[in-house]
Amino acid sequence: MTLKIPKEAKDAAKQLENAGYAAYLVGGCVRDLVVGKKPKDWDIATNATPEEIQKVFPESVYENNFGTVGVKTGSNDETLKILEITTFRSESVYEDRRHPKEVKFVSTIEEDLSRRDFTVNAMALALTGNKKLKTNNSYKLSVGSDLLLVDPFGGQKDLKKKIVRAVGNPRERFQEDALRLMRAVRFAVELDFKIDPPTQEEVAKNAGLIEEIAKERIRDEFTKIIMSDRAAEGIILLEDAGLLKYIVPELREGIGCGQNKHHIYTVFEHNVRALNYTAEKGYSFKVRLASLLHDVGKPRVKRGDGPDSTFYNHEVVGARMALKIMDRLKFPKELVEEVGHLVRYHLFYYNVGEVTEAGVRRFLARVGPENVDDLLKVREADRIGSGVPKAFPYKLRHLLFMIEKVKRDPISPKMLKVNGTDVMKILNVAPGPKIGWILTILLEEVLDDPKKNEEKYLDGRVGYLGMLSDKELKKMSEKARETKEEFEGGAEAEMKRKYSVK
Ligand code: ATP
Ligand code: MG
Repeated sequence: MTLKIPKEAKDAAKQLENAGYAAYLVGGCVRDLVVGKKPKDWDIATNATPEEIQKVFPESVYENNFGTVGVKTGSNDETLKILEITTFRSESVYEDRRHPKEVKFVSTIEEDLSRRDFTVNAMALALTGNKKLKTNNSYKLSVGSDLLLVDPFGGQKDLKKKIVRAVGNPRERFQEDALRLMRAVRFAVELDFKIDPPTQEEVAKNAGLIEEIAKERIRDEFTKIIMSDRAAEGIILLEDAGLLKYIVPELREGIGCGQNKHHIYTVFEHNVRALNYTAEKGYSFKVRLASLLHDVGKPRVKRGDGPDSTFYNHEVVGARMALKIMDRLKFPKELVEEVGHLVRYHLFYYNVGEVTEAGVRRFLARVGPENVDDLLKVREADRIGSGVPKAFPYKLRHLLFMIEKVKRDPISPKMLKVNGTDVMKILNVAPGPKIGWILTILLEEVLDDPKKNEEKYLDGRVGYLGMLSDKELKKMSEKARETKEEFEGGAEAEMKRKYSVK
């Protein structure tokens, strides 16, 4: 076996060894090297204390009190810019299944490896230049002329067998730190491995402990699952392991929830298949999550059963659910809103010849031109995930053509040739709700006919509208807001789709 170790990592280990310390590559990078994947980061473990590490590397930054020192290498490679060097440690006493009560420095790599979660993550790689390593322990394997693999828990064997297996007693390990429940699933999907049955059994038995874990940590593992190529398998595995009910229980409402004659899959299966498509395509996290959640509202609005069941308003209910789910998982507010928005508008109806340019402008005004790409991706995922894809590409191309056509037309109040200040000047009034009502009414007219976006005409309209009572203006602006573009989703679209001839 030849393992390619970058010069930066080798040099850092050598520097520590030259100063009289032991140094090993550990964790994810060793695992990835052995399976031939490019490591995401390079971690080094050593018996030097943080203060001693800093003396060896004057350029280092000691960021926290857990014994990790960041060493700048000057490399241009993102994964090598900073090497994390950590003092051998054990975390034997866990206070609350989250944080080790204390970080205890230990003197051997074996002790350090024994606190790690899974066997494939509990291997260490040393440069054989270090004389201290020449022992006869059977788990130390020479892997190449200048490398020694320290593998006390059979990580290499498990890599070959493609299994994720806890180091030591799985029950104890999950009870120490319940995040490992999620990590077991995450590594299984990232590596395309199975979870070893005794380990999986303990994941299922201890699934409820995940509730004690900080949402941010769960979010980070969940994100990695969604971003893996096998994201869909990850969701199924979370369900099989009894974890989904603590993370996104709303998705489980779709299990066994049959749909109507347009669908062959249950709601759950359809959502998961939509996610699968986006993962295959390598789409963004936002699109993946929106696709997974796009029909999450269906079970709650389902009426009737069998081929004619309906799901009116599921995009509105689903969007609200998506916001709640993501909020709960502590995703950043902006992302939460963007995903909610995609779920809200995923169900638009578009048919060549039925939709006018004004309709396309209203669609753009509602959805936001910057979201069209993502929305179409979610729509694609919806279509492919249904298992019965209807001809869409032509319609899609046509919609894009229409969007191109109206792209420069005014679709937001900001794009109107009069603004709030103008309105106040013309009418000689102070700021107030009236200004907003008038702009909304004007925009509605301009969405219908962009030629009306002309200063003289709009000034005249402002003068006229200014004469109306507040009550009338308010009513008119509310009506303008309610105008639906012709291919807005929801009940109407569903009716159309149901009864239109295809
Ligand atoms: P990735 O390639 O995604 O970074 P990784 O294996 O490096 O995967 P990290 O979360 O970066 O995973 O953790 C680095 C190493 O630290 C792991 O390989 C494992 O040995 C150890 N580790 C991390 N988290 C835990 C945990 N909760 N319990 C035990 N060991 C852990
Ligand atoms: Mg890592």
